[in-house]
Amino acid sequence: MRAAVIGAGAVGLTVAHLLAESDAVTEVHVHEARPEAASGATAYAGASDVPHGWTERHRRLVETGEEWHRAFGAGLGADERYRHRTGTFWRSGTPESDARIRGLAYGDLAEVTRPLALDGETPVRGLLGEGYVISPQRLTALLLDRLRAGGRTTFRFGTPVAADSPLADGVVVDAAGGREEYDAVVVAAGPWAPGLLPPLAGSGVRTKQVYGYRFAGDPERPLTTTVVDLEKGAFLFPQPTVPGSYAMSVKHDVFDVPVAEGEPSPEADAQALAVARDHLGPRARLTERRIFVDTYTEGSVPVVADLSGTRRLVCVSGTHGSGIRLAAGLAVEACALLGVAA
Ligand SMILES: Cc1cc2nc3c(=O)[nH]c(=O)nc-3n(C[C@H](O)[C@H](O)[C@H](O)COP(=O)(O)OP(=O)(O)OC[C@H]3O[C@@H](n4cnc5c(N)ncnc54)[C@H](O)[C@@H]3O)c2cc1C
Repeated sequence: MRAAVIGAGAVGLTVAHLLAESDAVTEVHVHEARPEAASGATAYAGASDVPHGWTERHRRLVETGEEWHRAFGAGLGADERYRHRTGTFWRSGTPESDARIRGLAYGDLAEVTRPLALDGETPVRGLLGEGYVISPQRLTALLLDRLRAGGRTTFRFGTPVAADSPLADGVVVDAAGGREEYDAVVVAAGPWAPGLLPPLAGSGVRTKQVYGYRFAGDPERPLTTTVVDLEKGAFLFPQPTVPGSYAMSVKHDVFDVPVAEGEPSPEADAQALAVARDHLGPRARLTERRIFVDTYTEGSVPVVADLSGTRRLVCVSGTHGSGIRLAAGLAVEACALLGVAA
């Protein structure tokens, strides 16, 4: 089988890796619009754990992904490790929010209070549990290395696939006029997927804004856990590969936005800084900020679908801000739809 993958983000590269490992596949071509792989949302994401419990489907995706990560990460040295177990502190003030968090979280939770870093005295109550932080930068670098070493994968960077490509017929036309025919095509184009595949709009996939921030912390008060503040829609956590740097994502309920990166407003910056200072201390400084677009669905359920009905065109979309954590589970499902076992 000759297979194409459109999009070299976390999902596309994991799909390419699974395809390239399979005896059923002879060649894999990765088509990526940007000059480099994993240079958009995948490169900027933190990325923290997604809670197990949103839905049964998330639970299955996380568990399938765990198996893949165990096999892929086996034997890596400390310098190459891309996935780290961490504590996760869920900020919570009421029995109602406790109940909501217990429904979402991964494993058991302990009730704790700890000082708010801002004044060191006001205790903040919450629930402490377990989680993972993945470095998407390290993960995708490893995937690229292995794909290159495997010798079955061809990369086509810097040439976007044309929106009117007859993908359901296995035909990929790129912006430079190149035309290739494949036995199977997997579209993993993140928020651009609905533009390439209009039927996705009918399956409820929408776009939504995600704000990404970076903060420098106070070296005397390192934060070692992920902090989840559901009320403010904020996730804050240490970046595993950049000591002293913290990533924050803030999910905004701004839907159906055009796919364009941009800059947050000064008001959004001030809110994000206030949350960061609560947990990192008054010396926390904003160092980077960007607005991205991600795909969402009603009920937060990702879509992995055979859009041709003939195992020729499979799409992964609607990752709901958790595409890094879910990428492996989604990739295994996408390959299964093509008849390629993990
Ligand atoms: C600030 C921020 C924080 C986040 N934090 C987390 C987190 O903590 N945990 C987590 O699990 N997830 C997190 N996410 C979500 C995660 O980054 C995304 O869900 C993930 O990147 C989706 O991966 P993907 O491979 O599907 O898409 P993308 O990473 O968007 O990759 C899609 C690729 O397709 C390419 N492409 C698009 N159109 C075409 C075309 N026509 N032809 C060829 N190529 C094309 C794009 O250039 C891009 O490289 C965060 C996202 C943001 C923005």
